[in-house]
Parts: sequence; C-alpha cells; structure tokens
Amino acid sequence: MARPVIVAIDGPAGAGKSTVSKILALRLGFTLVDTGAIYRCVALKARRMKVAFDDPAGLARVLHGLEVRFLMDEEKNHVFLDGADVSEEIRTPENSLAASQVSSRPVVRDGLLELQRRLALAAEQGAILEGRDIGTVVFPDADLKVFLFADPTIRAKRRYEELFQKGHEKPVGEVLAEQNRRDKEDSEREVAPLKPADDAVRIDSTQLPLSEVVHQIESLVEARRPR
Ligand code: C5P
Repeated sequence: MARPVIVAIDGPAGAGKSTVSKILALRLGFTLVDTGAIYRCVALKARRMKVAFDDPAGLARVLHGLEVRFLMDEEKNHVFLDGADVSEEIRTPENSLAASQVSSRPVVRDGLLELQRRLALAAEQGAILEGRDIGTVVFPDADLKVFLFADPTIRAKRRYEELFQKGHEKPVGEVLAEQNRRDKEDSEREVAPLKPADDAVRIDSTQLPLSEVVHQIESLVEARRPR
C-alpha cells in the first residue's frame, strides 16, 4: 500500500503553525499530528509524577506506556493523554516552559520518534505534522517540508491575544521574554535543534494573512501529491 502524503510544518512558536496546520488538515482531509502537544503531554505527565526534567531514568518512566491521541473537530484538535482530555491543561505558560525543557532531553526525543511516525503513517491519505524537527529528523524524506516563521514581536503579540482570549492576561513584554527563552532553548539544544531543513520551503508569515499562507502550502501539497 502506498504511504500517505507526509507534510512537515516546522518553525518557532507563534509563527502560525497550529492554526495553519489545522485548517490545512480539514481542507485536505489529512490527519493532523501536533508534535508539540506530544512534548507538552510528556511535560505534564512528568510534572504530575514529580519527575525532574534532568532525570533520564525518571523521564523514561514517564514515556513508558504513554498514550497520546488526537481527535479533531471543526473547533479544535483535542489532545488526550492516557485517555483524558488535556487540551487546555497542556497549554498553560508553566507547561509550555516545561515542554521546552523536557524536549531537550535525548531520552525524550528518541522515545517519541516511533509514536510520531506511527500516528502519521496510520493516516489514510496524508498527514500534516507540525513541530520543530519534522523535516530534519522525524521525516527527513517528507513529501513537502515547510518552515514557517515570523518576526518575534509579531509572534509575541499573536500569542498575547491568544492567551488573552483564554483568560490569561500578562504583559506582552513578558510573553516576548518567555518566547525568546523558548526559541533560544529550541535552537541551541544539541539534539534536533530548531532549524529549517535544507530542502524546506521557507514562508515568512509576518505580513501574510492566514488565508495566503494556507493557499500557498495547499498549492505546494497539490503539486507533490501522487495522481
Ligand atoms: O509547538 P509547541 O509550542 O506546542 O511545542 C511545545 C514545545 O515542544 C516547544 O517549545 C519545543 O520545545 C518542543 N517541541 C520540540 N519538537 C517538536 C515539537 C515541539 O522540541 N517537534
């Protein structure tokens, strides 16, 4: 049987990956694998189990039997950790920083490779994987690789609005500082740092409306889809 079409969408936090990936998945009828949500689930479970983020043996226990599932409706991509809906809980600012920390650990990155690939390859037609290292590590042979980025100040403002809508208000300067810290950790870590794959199509979303980004990627997918 032919492999599903694999689309990698990588880039820093706040560049619009989640929104763009969700719309694309709905329009194309593809499965969406939000790999950041998987790292967020590991962070949440480690916090619940009181495992330190620099304890490889403890993190291996967190990963053992970890079950992450996604259920997408028109509204959002629900995330289930060990059977419970944790869609909101994994996105608090504390858990965002924790996710960035656990994700620098080789035991976590290696331990999640198989799960990410399995979720994508189970797709019927195609899968959109959004993350940081999909085009470089998880699927170096993806059919299409996109690196989506934007000016840091614009990204922080978007994130501020998103948090505001969820009732978490904090100064935009603080959001920017946290984002810079996460960007730095993600780009400077030794394993699978955030960087565009050599063959990725780079899209700067600073000035582009969402619809334009979606249309550009959609045309790229259509051009590479087997007929
Ligand atoms: O994309 P999102 O912001 O939800 O990701 C949460 C954290 O998980 C990121 O800050 C990053 O540290 C980590 N991550 C990663 N590799 C991925 C996806 C996310 O290291 N493929």
